[in-house]
Formats: sequence, structure tokens, C-alpha cells
Amino acid sequence: MSFIQPIILPAYCQQSSRDQYQIDMYRGDLEHPNAPGNKWHKLQHHLKTAEQQNASVIATFGGPFSNHLHAFGKTLKPLPYKAVAVVRGELQPQLTPSLKDMADDGVELWPSSRSDYRLAMNSPLVMEINHHFGDVYWIPEGGGGGLGAMGCRDWANDIGALDNGYDAWVVSSGTGTTAAGLLSNLNTPDLHVFSALKGEPAQRDVILGLAEELSSESMGQKQLDAKLFFHFDCHEGGYAKHSPALIDFMRAFAVANPNSPLDPVYTCKSMFAIIKAMDSCTWPYRRTLFIHTGGLQGWRGYSNQTNPYVHS
Ligand SMILES: *Cc1c(COP(=O)(O)O)cnc(C)c1O
Repeated sequence: MSFIQPIILPAYCQQSSRDQYQIDMYRGDLEHPNAPGNKWHKLQHHLKTAEQQNASVIATFGGPFSNHLHAFGKTLKPLPYKAVAVVRGELQPQLTPSLKDMADDGVELWPSSRSDYRLAMNSPLVMEINHHFGDVYWIPEGGGGGLGAMGCRDWANDIGALDNGYDAWVVSSGTGTTAAGLLSNLNTPDLHVFSALKGEPAQRDVILGLAEELSSESMGQKQLDAKLFFHFDCHEGGYAKHSPALIDFMRAFAVANPNSPLDPVYTCKSMFAIIKAMDSCTWPYRRTLFIHTGGLQGWRGYSNQTNPYVHS
């Protein structure tokens, strides 16, 4: 199996867009079967650092449906660490599917009040956990920061080694860590980043700053700036929300590409945005690589009616 596979434009797209564009998908969703997508890559340098520091406990933060927490549980399961997760909000008696997997994988779940959660490393809860366990290595929410981005720079290197002939890459963003890592790789072509969040136009500077830190002297800010295209108006109603147009799109896309499922929070929105641009023939590249960042486990938090990959 090749990790790069062709995407078919949905049936409603004009013939001229079909003739003009080639879009392939890098199937990050098929990597590391237990922990697919970008989150595994974001963890790698954190794990190396935890090992160097001789940590015996690794802790992190996330929401009850978080792909990061899910990948954290699966990635740490075979490793000799105690895994601890601070979960946003109270734990419901009926755990979400993501949290249930984590509990099964041996992660210790610590509920947090929303205000505690917002304080992150400065919260009394973190002090309590440090006090309780001693030497805890903390991974930021979403696996972010410089070490998270470094793992995605390595990922970009691996992806580029398969085929470096694309005119542009497309990726979804939440914190922008993945995008920063991809951007900082020397051979990455023009990078189009589509934010799943509402009202975060300033994130472009965060991505650029983080990429600059990582790219050493090989690429200056000007070069990185010229390669980065940040889109902040494709959230379709807000984080994890679906507009009726997006639901229609996901159905049409699933019919055309039944074996290339999109996730409900990130990739569905970036794919919708570029296919819209292709359908109106305003997308300025011929060969595009869409990087699938995983997250399919997130469908378990939605009803079957919105999930186009469930057939009743
Ligand atoms: C977390 C996540 C992203 C966003 O990654 P960031 O590094 O936070 O920008 C994109 N896609 C999927 C499927 C994710 O789970």
C-alpha cells in the first residue's frame, strides 16, 4: 500500500476543475494503527526528552474527545511510564469513547474545573500531581510547543521523501504546531493551512515564529513567510461544528472517496475549502498534496446521522 493516494473530486464539481487539478492525499490516518495522524509525531520528541530526564511519569492535558489524549494513551501504553491526563471539566459517569479507551490503556484520569484547566501549568492541580508523583514530565495541551513541532518537521521530511514534486501541501490546524513543523522543513513547497478554529487570524504569526525557531539558518523569516498561506475563515460555524453545506460536502466526498474518510473536526473543513477553490478554478496549483492528520476516532462523539461513513 502506498501512503500517497489519489482523491476524486465529488460528482458536483465542474469538468474543468477535474481536468485542471490533481489532488493526492498523504494517508497519515493509516500510520501507526493505534495512534494515527499528527498527534503521534507531536509526541516523539517529548518522549525522547522525558527519557533523557529519567522521568517515570508523563502527564498532559486535553478535552474529553481529544485526539491528543487518545494518541497519548495508545502511544504510552507499551512504554514503561505512568501516564496521567488532566481532563477538561468533570468526568461524567459515562466516559466518552476517547476517555474510555484511555482508562482501558491504563491512563490515570484527573478531572479539572474549567478555571483550573485554563491555568494549565500554573494550576493548583498540576502542583498537586507533581507533589503526588514526584518527577513528572509534562506535555502541553495538544502536544504543542517546539518539541511537538520538531516531530512534525521530521514528518515533513518523511513525506517529502516519498514524492517531492507537489506544487503545494495542505494541512489543517488547531494550535498550529503541526503546520509550523511542516513549514520549517526545507523542502516543503507552498503550505496552505486551514484553521478549524473560529476567529484566530493571529495564529499565522504563531506558526511563522515557531517555524523560524526550528528552521535554524537554512530559511529566514522572509522565505518562510512567502511559503505560508493561512486561512482562518473555513471553520463552518466554529470548532467541531458543521454547517449544512459542510454536511452536504462530506456526503458527496464520501461517495466519491469511500476509502479516504475525513475526520469530523479538522480534515473535513480543509478538504471542503480546497475543493471549493478547485471547483471555482481559483486554486492556483496543479499538483496538490493533502496531508491527512488523522482524528477519525473523533466520529464517535457524533451521531450516526452526521457521519457519512456509517451506513444504516
Ligand atoms: C490536533 C489535530 C490537528 C491540529 O493540529 P495542531 O498541531 O494543533 O495544529 C489537525 N488535525 C487533526 C485530525 C488533529 O487531531
